[in-house]
Amino acid sequence: MTSEANPFESLQEQIDDASAYLDVRSDLVERLKRPERVLEANLSVEMDDGTIEHFKSFRSQFNGDRGPYKGGIRYHPGVTRDEVKALSGWMVYKCALVDIPYGGGKGGIAVDPSRYSAGELERLTRSFATELRPLIGPDVDIPAPDVNTGQREMDWIKDTYETLENTTAPGTVTGKSLSAGGSAGRVRATGRSTMLTAREAFTYRGRDIADATIAVQGYGNAGSVAAELLEDQGATVVAVSDSSGAIYDPTGLDTRAVKSHKRKTGSVIEYEGAETEIRSNRELLTLDVDVLIPAALENAIDESIAVDVSADVIVEAANGPLTPDADAVLTDRDVAVFPDVLANAGGVTVSYFEWVQNRQQFYWAESRVKQELETIITNAFDDLVEAYESRELPNFRTAAYAVAIERVIEAYDRQGTWP
Ligand code: GLU
Repeated sequence: MTSEANPFESLQEQIDDASAYLDVRSDLVERLKRPERVLEANLSVEMDDGTIEHFKSFRSQFNGDRGPYKGGIRYHPGVTRDEVKALSGWMVYKCALVDIPYGGGKGGIAVDPSRYSAGELERLTRSFATELRPLIGPDVDIPAPDVNTGQREMDWIKDTYETLENTTAPGTVTGKSLSAGGSAGRVRATGRSTMLTAREAFTYRGRDIADATIAVQGYGNAGSVAAELLEDQGATVVAVSDSSGAIYDPTGLDTRAVKSHKRKTGSVIEYEGAETEIRSNRELLTLDVDVLIPAALENAIDESIAVDVSADVIVEAANGPLTPDADAVLTDRDVAVFPDVLANAGGVTVSYFEWVQNRQQFYWAESRVKQELETIITNAFDDLVEAYESRELPNFRTAAYAVAIERVIEAYDRQGTWP
């Protein structure tokens, strides 16, 4: 993180900014600024050497007006209660914007998973799943992968839940392995929605994504897949980075070769393409490119970086990568920011498809997943642009929140307040 901005305060500021443009009751908007409930659990886990270590963990259920709480679980040393609360709120607006029948939730454990063995991580995950058990379930709250978690962790959570409940309930978590009831296309879905958003953004601006130069900050699942799919569209990915630094090649990087280099060495740096130079993350964020894709953590771009951003389009693959101050600077500078709640919504959208398949016990081909995902993302893009233009909103984030908040408030209002 380059900035100390509190993500929960950022979220509240974003809601306040958007609500100025909404024709809804302010007392109802107020509900959308804080979670319904937050679990904080202290996990005691046996290490391989027999000692016990303690870990702080959280699950925030932000809003369930449109359906079960939905959202990932992250493993990161920087996880805090406020971060999880913010991330759970962003899930509400994300699910509402793409119009899938979910509310929003998020979980996390403050842990650096690279420091633990697979056995230790399994015990940690099963311990967390045991704490989550009374709160989750296919109709209640459905966890999924997030930063540093994936199929392995989801399979452990599913198995723990099913064992304790003496049932089969694969729809309790999404992002599972295929053999545990996962969906084709789920792993690459987040990056796919980032590619689709960038492509639609270029078409909307009267340009072709094939002519774009692109820089990607963060080369995990979201960033690397977005880079690969944009390269497949003909775009030139000139720079990518991870926490060790950035690499730059003005002639374009071979995004798949960079990924296999990272898989082997643990980092993108020292990748040996013909013209590749090493840069800092800050240099990457301010490179003279057409599209910048922040795909790492919150607060990657603060005000001090925003003033130097050269890209004219930003597509947010990460959740919350811009501080509100950075957002204001970029709006003033006419940089078009396509927000996280659209650009990374592919992950939760294919989670929804996975959950539907689990409930129907009928599994789709990958081609169907891709096609239905494309329909959902392009429809959401159109809804966002329609709100932006017809209401003369200052930027696309405000437009996304306007569409999403109105959908959540309508669901709440129709159901009424009880008890
Ligand atoms: N963690 C992802 C997100 O932030 C996916 C959540 C999900 O699939 O439920 O959108």
